[in-house]
Amino acid sequence: MMDGAFPSLKPRYPATMNERFDVVIVGGAAVGASVAWHLARDASFKGSTLVLERDATYATAATALSASSIRRQFSTAINVRVSGYGIALLREAKELLGADAGLHEGGYLFLATEAGRPILRENHAVQVEEGADIAWLEPEALAAQFPWMNVDGLAAGTWGRTGEGWFDGFGVMQAMRRASRAAGVTWREAEVARLLTAGGAATGVVLADGTEIEAGTVVVTAGTGAAPLLATAGLDLPVRARKRCIFYVRCPEALPGFPLLIDPSGVYARPEGAGFICGVAPPEEADPDVAADDFVVDHALFEEVVWPTLAARVPAFERLRMERAWAGHYDMNLFDHNAFAGAAPGIANLLLACGFSGHGLQQAPAVGRGLAELAAHGRFVSLDLAPLSPARLGENRPLVERNVV
Ligand SMILES: Cc1cc2nc3c(=O)[nH]c(=O)nc-3n(C[C@H](O)[C@H](O)[C@H](O)COP(=O)(O)OP(=O)(O)OC[C@H]3O[C@@H](n4cnc5c(N)ncnc54)[C@H](O)[C@@H]3O)c2cc1C
Repeated sequence: MMDGAFPSLKPRYPATMNERFDVVIVGGAAVGASVAWHLARDASFKGSTLVLERDATYATAATALSASSIRRQFSTAINVRVSGYGIALLREAKELLGADAGLHEGGYLFLATEAGRPILRENHAVQVEEGADIAWLEPEALAAQFPWMNVDGLAAGTWGRTGEGWFDGFGVMQAMRRASRAAGVTWREAEVARLLTAGGAATGVVLADGTEIEAGTVVVTAGTGAAPLLATAGLDLPVRARKRCIFYVRCPEALPGFPLLIDPSGVYARPEGAGFICGVAPPEEADPDVAADDFVVDHALFEEVVWPTLAARVPAFERLRMERAWAGHYDMNLFDHNAFAGAAPGIANLLLACGFSGHGLQQAPAVGRGLAELAAHGRFVSLDLAPLSPARLGENRPLVERNVV
């Protein structure tokens, strides 16, 4: 047999040379999958993309443990816009992703007492200015629209007639993962131990097993794992893991037209299957940074706060039965409760998105598209995400989001 009749099995490069990709995405849940999918859809981007995800089961990822709801009712215009792209994508998911997003546009209902009414009014003005379909309801209108609700103590409410609700966020993430892989993106199960930098620029990543991978651009979308990883490149972001519990309950009475209701106290509930999910953020003094492996449910929170509050607001909830509960972690941005999304300050070729503070699943479509545009074109092409730039931290320009649920 002549030499060279078969392709050589030897690597075409010396064994010591590292693999290289144009874009390496660290963290392949909602946001990372969205970056990968948007890059794969960009016909003008000809580069190679690798997604590194440490746990392909997503057992502890916020994406898998989320309440998976989407709203236009934010206090900052950029967040209203970002969810606008999210809802548009979810409505067209079947066509775009080949998978139904399970979108149910049941609306959010933010309720306010007399004290909260002026802020509700201000937020409503921002939302309407951005074109969101949010109705302002006085107490009589609230009682007429939601007859199963006790309106005592309420001064007003805002309700999303369309463009808000809940969806299958985990399913959307998996669909983006599948579609990006089919379009040539490489997905690999591996943990990134640290980022590589040289001369003020990101140059790649080092895996937990010591393997180095070179990158033209590194994109960190690692949820609560992002801040520790970015610290390896010298970036100190005030993003911490905060525990949030979700309780799944059944109610013997039908409550038609139940939206995602947010009591003035912050306690929320929404329909889920044949029952409801509900929860509340613990008070600040009882909301410590949590360890990465702390998923213990705070059952006292349900008994002492969530249930009594819901039963007072919705009398039928007196007869709730709690069936199961779980805990997940917000990547809480302690600076201003809004995502950091964009170029890393002071480090070239490094993009990041973290600090979503409980609204990242709905922001994953727009933020993923924005980071893909930055990676491929060096600028935002469709929606300008500059207000979410991490640079605002160093410039001490907080973009405070009032509506954190
Ligand atoms: C209880 C709860 C309720 C929520 N409700 C809502 C809601 O109703 N609406 C909404 O919009 N948002 C909600 N959120 C927030 C939302 O779920 C998150 O903001 C969003 O899922 C974040 O997605 P992500 O891809 O940034 O991070 P994650 O989903 O946390 O994923 C990060 C991924 O990175 C991987 N990773 C981490 N470190 C490394 C590493 N070093 N190497 C490789 N991989 C790594 C992890 O394994 C993980 O898969 C909720 C969150 C919780 C916990």
